[in-house]
Amino acid sequence: MISIKLKLLKPLHLAASHTVAPMASTLDYIPGTAVRGALAQKYLDQPGQAEDQDFKNWFLADEVRFSPLLPLGTSQKYASACEPLPLTAFKCKLYPGFKTRDAGNHGVRDMLFEFIRGHGRLPDDRCESQGCESHLIPADGFYAPDGGLIEIRKHLETRTAIDSQTETAAQQQLFSLEVLEEEQVFGGSIELASIEQEQLFTQKLMREGLELRLGAARTRGLGLAQIIQVSTIASLPASQKTLAARLTAFSEYAINDQQIECDKRLCFVLTLVSDCVIRDEFLRFGGTITPQVLGRYVHPALANASLLGAFTRTRMVDGWNAAQKNPRPTEIAICAGSVFAFGIDAAAPELAAYLQYLERDGLGERTQEGYGRLVIDHEFHKQEGQR
Ligand SMILES: [Zn+2]
Repeated sequence: MISIKLKLLKPLHLAASHTVAPMASTLDYIPGTAVRGALAQKYLDQPGQAEDQDFKNWFLADEVRFSPLLPLGTSQKYASACEPLPLTAFKCKLYPGFKTRDAGNHGVRDMLFEFIRGHGRLPDDRCESQGCESHLIPADGFYAPDGGLIEIRKHLETRTAIDSQTETAAQQQLFSLEVLEEEQVFGGSIELASIEQEQLFTQKLMREGLELRLGAARTRGLGLAQIIQVSTIASLPASQKTLAARLTAFSEYAINDQQIECDKRLCFVLTLVSDCVIRDEFLRFGGTITPQVLGRYVHPALANASLLGAFTRTRMVDGWNAAQKNPRPTEIAICAGSVFAFGIDAAAPELAAYLQYLERDGLGERTQEGYGRLVIDHEFHKQEGQR
């Protein structure tokens, strides 16, 4: 796996959708699609370069995974890793931050188990810090697993539209673009079929110092970024035995300590850490992950699981096909941070065998572009949950 960090040299606008509006908002992270597109373009821009075997190995092979690049902070001080907060995370309205790490008893609280116990209803609870009693609000955004919440800096840039006939500034047509501010660092990973391919890729193309053009309005000086850190690390999927032990421990915690209602032998939880695109047998997009979805994409036996609870949100995904110079059809994705809890009548080693490659391979469609990344039985739900 190649771990990369990238710094914005200029503000960046990543259109959240094709919708034309006076104010266009930006995504908070850089999708894998954008990273892959920018690197592929860089490769083809080299003199005499064509879509050769290297190009196929690095950008098109089935095993290729370009993860989204997530915000890490500014270049003066940035986190080593970042994850989206699960949608089950809530925080004190007055004092954000983490309870376990920051002073006081305010802060982020994971409500997954409370939600399952309440049969899909959230308790109308307040911050439990003495004398605070503030409302709890969804803790949207990103956090560093070894630190606190990550702040994203954005601002609005007002521009004049360009007249498509004359290619000069159009009269009385101002619009605003929301942009991610420069000097922010984003990090993620790229996986190729083998460590040899990854070494070749970092020698020939993905070097520190490489400048890339990302996002929209590139001709207007936006979207210039620089790779500031590249490292190749060996990554092995967890062994079936380790996964089985993790599944047992988490399930016992959920059923015994958290007292969730589960009439099956095991309970397991899937937490999306990137957006996920699911289609059914009629190619319709799905807005949630059901046992049937797991049965179709992961292992047929998982279709017998039962859904204990789902915390989910969807968004439209628009894109641009650079080769055809055309917009891509709109798709629907289940948002990163969505959480799904299941019960299943299976022994832990059996379940571990079904789920063994899920974290590595991802779930659903477009996994090469970083969609469908998830964590099985995420520790966050235990660490930040209410006991
Ligand atoms: Zn509070």
